Amino acid sequence: MSADDTRRAELAANLARVRARIDAARTAAGRTDEVTLVAVTKTYPATDVALLADLGVTDVGENRDQEAAPKAAAIGGRVRWHFVGQLQRNKARSVTAYADVVQSVDSVRLAAALDRGAAGHGRVVDVLIQVSLDGDPERGGALPGSADPDRGLGPAAEAVAGAPALRLAGLMAVAPLGAPPDAAFAQLAEVAAAFHVDHPTATVLSAGMSDDLESAVSHGATHVRVGSALLGKRHYLG
Ligand SMILES: *Cc1c(COP(=O)(O)O)cnc(C)c1O
Repeated sequence: MSADDTRRAELAANLARVRARIDAARTAAGRTDEVTLVAVTKTYPATDVALLADLGVTDVGENRDQEAAPKAAAIGGRVRWHFVGQLQRNKARSVTAYADVVQSVDSVRLAAALDRGAAGHGRVVDVLIQVSLDGDPERGGALPGSADPDRGLGPAAEAVAGAPALRLAGLMAVAPLGAPPDAAFAQLAEVAAAFHVDHPTATVLSAGMSDDLESAVSHGATHVRVGSALLGKRHYLG
């Protein structure tokens, strides 16, 4: 087998395992709706993205613009591109050139920058508001229940909802390190229920990664973001 065939077989086996885990979690939760798998390909080459697309993966996530932009240029519209990392406002124009979904919006000012970027490209970009589950603004995420005019979840969601070049699609969260994911995702489900009163069509809930996707699916995740369980352990922090 060529190196390419070996890698394809490895990715196919990993993908089958991850899809089986998602299906088992859906069944255990009594869910009949779909859960979308977002393959987080950070630190892995564009050739892996192409192999995953061949294997039927439709959605790909990246967390750094410098890495994502050239991969998106190489692969193009074969997959939907999700930006999942902390984002500086000065990258908004670059990211909105290729991202179909920005999952990590956590402030009014970032929403405004993305709106300008998307409008400049003549595009409409889907946005998820990233929710802070530990209240630590340094780790990213808008603050639920906060009236902070920039970092509060309500103000950030309103800013996206009112932005002509953005579409408010839902919420995203990362479980805090070192805490049981069930408690965090139960909290997220409560935040999402309150959010849906004001934004009933913004139904995406992106939660769960390689180690905690079962917990996230049991608490209503519509999208899971899986990196290492699909592609292998990353060799540098991404
Ligand atoms: C890297 C990353 C993931 C995937 O993490 P794994 O543990 O490798 O599955 C998911 N979400 C975000 C925001 C990430 O940065």
